[in-house]
Amino acid sequence: MGRLVMKFGGTSVANIDRIRNVARHVKREVDAGHDVAVVVSAMAGKTNELVEWCRDASPMHDAREYDAVVASGEQVTSGLLAIVLQGMGIQARSWQGWQIAIKTSDAHASARILEIDGTEIINRFGDRKEVAVIAGFQGINPHTNRITTLGRGGSDTSAVAIAAAIRADRCDIYTDVDGVYTTDPRVVPKARRLDKIAFEDMLELASLGAKVLQVRSVELGMVHNMPVFVRSSFDKPEDIDPHGTPPGTLICSEEEIMESHVVTGIAFSKDEAQISLRQIEDKPGVAAAIFGPLADANINVDMIVQNVSEDGKTTDLTFTVPASDYNRARDTITASKGKIGYARLDSATDVSKVSVIGSGMRSHAGVAAKAFKALSERNINIRAITTSEIKFSVLIDAAYTELAVRTLHTLYGLDQT
Ligand code: ASP
Ligand code: MG
Repeated sequence: MGRLVMKFGGTSVANIDRIRNVARHVKREVDAGHDVAVVVSAMAGKTNELVEWCRDASPMHDAREYDAVVASGEQVTSGLLAIVLQGMGIQARSWQGWQIAIKTSDAHASARILEIDGTEIINRFGDRKEVAVIAGFQGINPHTNRITTLGRGGSDTSAVAIAAAIRADRCDIYTDVDGVYTTDPRVVPKARRLDKIAFEDMLELASLGAKVLQVRSVELGMVHNMPVFVRSSFDKPEDIDPHGTPPGTLICSEEEIMESHVVTGIAFSKDEAQISLRQIEDKPGVAAAIFGPLADANINVDMIVQNVSEDGKTTDLTFTVPASDYNRARDTITASKGKIGYARLDSATDVSKVSVIGSGMRSHAGVAAKAFKALSERNINIRAITTSEIKFSVLIDAAYTELAVRTLHTLYGLDQT
């Protein structure tokens, strides 16, 4: 017997029929003798609708009231799932964030979980064999007693945090894909599902554009060493052997991964824009004059490349920002042109970033060099490069994204055979 958290996303609870399907998944684990806490998202599309309503009501709405509104989607699905489970003869009770309580910071709309008291839920496993059905995405700030939400996609984070709080053996994330792939299978048909992936690699994949899990949930899993299993909610509940190994991807610590590749996966994002400042003065304080105002404007700068100047007087500096922030970034820079002092601003929005990830890179040389050669053989020009211990990224023309991803996928032996 074990203790499980089962998390179901929006498409898995999109209507009553699907909620019944979820209930059958839960029943299977309960029948197998497990203690179960379920975490649910709102019905697919619901949160978007609630967010829209807030904007409609007032474009400049109070973030506390936004949270009061958008947290309601999960209240509905947690109650409905408890009702369906009870109808199947399973003891079940719904829990809102404040009832547990899931205590968070007061950063409304992007609150961080501070503490969860799992005692009552654990007690009820013992006393009543009761399934806890928990509303994801929401918590409460203990000082103001107001409802908070954790940012879009936050139920993943709720699930992992609850798993840690109730000392679960595993956190199962049921979703509309059957695991984590080496890259997006829609772009590379030969993409492979990974049986296991290390927290660190998953963190990079999620941060760099793989949309399976909220980044913070992976961070939490890593901190608490909580194994997270990504699996499909569309497999028929009755076809699954609760004691077998179903298809899916286990996100776990590196030590648990026996067969490891140098490269784990390839991520890409087309949502990039490049800004280059030509002939900026090569003197102390220039970088601060550029990136300070961007930070103040809450614009996330990603890649930064500065040339070493030849004459010691001027140099070029290139950086990237999310495409959605491009106009603001350009305006911010132009507004401080006097302070920065540059001759020309060049920019491109039809660029994309392709990243190669693998903790195996730590102990292997020449991994990136191989990629540069392969890309040049395809005539793909690299505009900028960044590297870290376990990944490197190249900025290229967006038109070549698919070709680049496929080329690298094959190059590093990730293709399905
Ligand atoms: N319902 C919330 C959202 O759509 C939280 C989640 O689904 O994880 O962002
Ligand atoms: Mg999600």
